[in-house]
Formats: sequence, C-alpha cells, structure tokens
Amino acid sequence: MVSLHPALDHGVKPGTGSFAGGTLVCACADRPVKVKITGDVAHNHACGCTKCWKPDGAAFSIVAVTGRDNVEVIENGDKLAVVDPSALIQRHACTECGVHMYGPVERDHPFQGLDFIHPERFEEAGWMAPGFAAFVSSVIEAGVDPAEMDGIRKRLGDLGLAPYDCLSPALMDYIATWTARKNGVLK
Ligand SMILES: [Zn+2]
Ligand SMILES: [Zn+2]
Repeated sequence: MVSLHPALDHGVKPGTGSFAGGTLVCACADRPVKVKITGDVAHNHACGCTKCWKPDGAAFSIVAVTGRDNVEVIENGDKLAVVDPSALIQRHACTECGVHMYGPVERDHPFQGLDFIHPERFEEAGWMAPGFAAFVSSVIEAGVDPAEMDGIRKRLGDLGLAPYDCLSPALMDYIATWTARKNGVLK
C-alpha cells in the first residue's frame, strides 16, 4: 500500500488550537538549519505536487503557510539555497539533507507575503492539523500507479482530508477573488 505520509498513515494528530510557534529543524545531525516560527500555521494540508519536500517514501507532503514576518532563520542559514529561483514559491532547502525549510512568495500573487513551511519539522508538538489534501492527482507524476488513486482518495477522505486535484475551494476562491479585484471585475 502506498504510504501517504508517516504523520497520516496512522491517523491525523489534532492540533492544540493554541500553538504558539516553535523551531523548524532540518534533518542534518551536524549543524542543522533552524528556523523560528512565531504563532500557529494556517491552511495546513497534505500536498501531492512534485515540488513540495516529502519524507522518504511518502506520496504527500504536509505543508502550511505563515506570514513572512513570523519566519526567522536562527541557526546555520549558510546551508540554505533556493531550489528553483524561477518558481512562485522560493523554497529554501538545506543543501546537505535536502529538507525545505521555508518558501516565501515574493512576486505579485494572492499568496504574496506568505511563507510555505513543513510543520512536521517543528521540534514542538501541537501545530494545526492538516485539513484537506491538495493536488492529489499529481502523485501519479511522482510515480504512483494510477490504479491506486481510488484507494488513496478513499483513505484521505477517511482521515478527514477531503481530496482535491487543485487547492481547496476556500483557497481557490481566495485566488479568484484576488484576481477579480486586480482586474477590476470585483470591487
Ligand atoms: Zn540539513
Ligand atoms: Zn505541494
């Protein structure tokens, strides 16, 4: 059976609802990169796209956002490099272990000012649980057998993570609203 993610395969751990933030740590035993995050994350979800960092063997990442001002590299930032400078999300990865530590959106876009982070890298527990699954069909692009997809969508649904092949309706509406305002269609 395809592993969704180690933090999903045995059930979703609920958040405390009062997570104050913490420290994201990469996978290096020596000189790990540490990034301090203030406050809880938002829009946490499982993501099947091929760009997000995932632990070994996982079909999905767990990824959330926080405001730019909540992100501060506190140790070994010299090990970070941007994975793909042309991408919307400027994913800053540890060049030794490969873990993505934070990914700001800097260009003119509805997500401008947000940073994408992987809450499973928090040293602390209690962060907001993932609430849906995005880009589910994209796991095929990473090598998952298309015949597995019905089972994968069923398992995600059973975990309370509604499966979508783009972002969630709330986020798609948010993007469309931003675009309509920018174009003057909506006031
Ligand atoms: Zn590392
Ligand atoms: Zn993704």
